[in-house]
Amino acid sequence: MSIGAKDSGERDFRAGLRALGRHRPDMAVRSLRAAAAACPASAAAALERRLYWLALALLRLDQAELALKRLASAQKLRPRGNARLLYLRMTNDYGMARRGNPDVEDLYAFYSIQTAAYFARKRRACFDDAAEKDAVVRLVGDAWLALSRSGVLRGLAPSAKIRLFRESRVAFPTFAFTAGMPCRVIKADFRAKASLRGEERCPCGSGLPYRQCCGRIAGLDELKSE
Ligand SMILES: [Zn+2]
Repeated sequence: MSIGAKDSGERDFRAGLRALGRHRPDMAVRSLRAAAAACPASAAAALERRLYWLALALLRLDQAELALKRLASAQKLRPRGNARLLYLRMTNDYGMARRGNPDVEDLYAFYSIQTAAYFARKRRACFDDAAEKDAVVRLVGDAWLALSRSGVLRGLAPSAKIRLFRESRVAFPTFAFTAGMPCRVIKADFRAKASLRGEERCPCGSGLPYRQCCGRIAGLDELKSE
């Protein structure tokens, strides 16, 4: 399917590229987001291109996790496209942003998984105040120290670590979950994720391991946005 000249998404796409050229990544993100939203999923090449440039604009705003989220979607559309190349360059074994230190990457994966589990129980993807956030950070941090000091992680393959992280339950107390600010309700199919092994090819047909494609671990910025 081709994208016609009258398509508003195409107009937004060009406006986004112009904004990037003028070093206005904030404006570019707005236009490119609209361009991607207007693109039907059946126009795979056009959508991949729009998501790729949206990711570049987000990177210019230092939004690496949000950029990765877009690249993770885009790379499924065109296995040999630019988005796939950039995605593989930016991502680690967990499908998260590379940080150059394997221990730190393990910690981020563990922290994201546990915080996502906490948000899912709470049914809202945000903290209500600093005290709640501090308490969660402290509890996850303590659990991480216990896990890493126990030595069980040594020599484990990434998919085995992911299983262990998902099976590890942090004993969160029941905080008073107040209804207040509008927050995104988490839609997650935890059973489907748990039933797939990380090293298997992703069922979406991307050719990547599941753990690095549809089973990737979302960064905290991704949980909190959109
Ligand atoms: Zn996939």
